Amino acid sequence: MKAFTYERADSVAAAARAVAGKPGAKFIAGGTNLLDLMKLEVETPTHLVDVNRLPLAAIEDTSQGGLRIGALVRNSDLVANPRVRKDYAVLSRALLSGASAQLRNKATTAGNLLQRTRCYYFYDVSKPCNKRKPGSGCSAMAGFNRIHAVVGASDDCIATHPSDMAVAMQALDAQVETMMPDGSAQAIPLAEFYRLPGNTPQIETALKPGQIITAVTLPPPIGGTQIYRKVRDRASYAFALTSVAAVVETAAGKIRVARLAFGGIAPRPWRVAEAEHLLEGNTPNDAVFAKAGEAVIAGGRGYGHNDFKLPLLKRTLSAVLTAATRTA
Ligand code: SF4
Repeated sequence: MKAFTYERADSVAAAARAVAGKPGAKFIAGGTNLLDLMKLEVETPTHLVDVNRLPLAAIEDTSQGGLRIGALVRNSDLVANPRVRKDYAVLSRALLSGASAQLRNKATTAGNLLQRTRCYYFYDVSKPCNKRKPGSGCSAMAGFNRIHAVVGASDDCIATHPSDMAVAMQALDAQVETMMPDGSAQAIPLAEFYRLPGNTPQIETALKPGQIITAVTLPPPIGGTQIYRKVRDRASYAFALTSVAAVVETAAGKIRVARLAFGGIAPRPWRVAEAEHLLEGNTPNDAVFAKAGEAVIAGGRGYGHNDFKLPLLKRTLSAVLTAATRTA
């Protein structure tokens, strides 16, 4: 591990200023991903700003009837929150499917959003990787790419985003609240938070230097049947090969509301408005589900080892929609 300096921030604005003011500085909270990356020298921050003691660990109702989740709320506390379990069950289920109990006790809401890809080559500093070292090439493209993206990728990077929590938040239309180093607040819809890789895969989010996440806000609950289904190589402690977050409501035998987001297939939580439009107002049946699945992977492609993800996504979506509309 490379040597670095350390400070503990005593206010949110001071933390943002400290990171903005030092090239190579980073925030650290739970550290469940960052410390691994530092040990491998994939991440080599010059300075760490510890934000663990900032007052950002509350889960509060918003005046509009939604929920504000502080950036430092631990994943295990979010899973167990009564309002999350009752009104945002898809989020609770997604969190429970991620990592292990020990990691969820430590991992934070903001850190979960900002975790890095698990592309094998990103973690192997002896291999070319455009995300780790821009311009060096992408080892996954012609390498072992079983876990890689089939939609949203570029010629420079085909990595997937690893978070389950962010996929559920995407289906729930979450908004990321941030503070700039000058103390001003800025809200970013989660749909605009992650960038596609293009030719700059090292830039993953819309955050500017020093901009710190303070909370994630969920709009008022929309009810419906909420399902998070994760398909992976083993039953626990594994990242998604594909996952579906679904909030579906039926009325009078038709799908009234469909909110869908997908993990394990793209560089960011994947949401396709057309797939939802194809479902809403229609009678649930296999043909309609298949059309929605086609819309989700439209324009996508496999890279060899991950070709199976395209049919897998369609089958998983179909199974989730069948379960969600069973009583329609
Ligand atoms: Fe690096 Fe992205 Fe290629 Fe993986 S897929 S080796 S993260 S450039």
